[in-house]
Amino acid sequence: MRKKIVAGNWKMNNDSQQTQALLSDILNKRPQDTATKIVVAPTFVNLQSAVIQTKGSNVIVAAQNMHQAESGAFTGEISVGMLKGIDVNTVILGHSERRAYFGETNSILAEKVNTALKHNLTIIFCFGEELADRQSGNHFNVVESQLREGLFHIGESQWTNVVLAYEPVWAIGTGETASPEQAQEMHNFIRTLIKENVSADVSEHTSILYGGSVKPDNAQEIFSKPDVDGGLIGGAALKADDFLAIVNAI
Ligand code: PGA
Repeated sequence: MRKKIVAGNWKMNNDSQQTQALLSDILNKRPQDTATKIVVAPTFVNLQSAVIQTKGSNVIVAAQNMHQAESGAFTGEISVGMLKGIDVNTVILGHSERRAYFGETNSILAEKVNTALKHNLTIIFCFGEELADRQSGNHFNVVESQLREGLFHIGESQWTNVVLAYEPVWAIGTGETASPEQAQEMHNFIRTLIKENVSADVSEHTSILYGGSVKPDNAQEIFSKPDVDGGLIGGAALKADDFLAIVNAI
């Protein structure tokens, strides 16, 4: 059985008070006995308070990014040790906004993956094609190279710390979702790639999340697909009721 996961990526939203309020709403209303892993990713400045607030609960706090170097002259950046130092043990890497606006290439991401795994963080590794790739029928190739160049170099045993998030860029924040069939088709392609390049066991046990305009009213249909193990949620994660409706849709 693969882990079911619903992760909320809050992006550059919510100041400290709003973070605290949203989190307490989630903590009050969340299903407590669920086997689904609930993850929230506030901004860096709100990570520590979120960790304290969620202590003893089944809500996991993740960072939205980290630098590949362990320390040094990288003004404005955050290291893996700083995350671990405040008990953040999960990090989102390779989000399409990081790739598009902050120049994160597959090779930079490979370094981030190495640093995170070296320090035993769990990574939520994001990837996905752009609209032009899908329209030209190149989407499988793009996804395959993102995985080969950014992730497939790791050792088999390290995959226990890896969660994948397939997020077609054309579906992020656009209201446009991949159809459940499109999501399933890509997730199945990814699972097959892992089987061929890593092992059947890793392929069977790696959770693959779908992200891109997941909402309470489409979550259930997407999550019902056999190779979709949950979601990475942006906009709809900013309201506790919507986010928890998506958690409950699994
Ligand atoms: P969205 O964002 O749900 O607002 O489309 C998803 C994401 O960027 O992870």
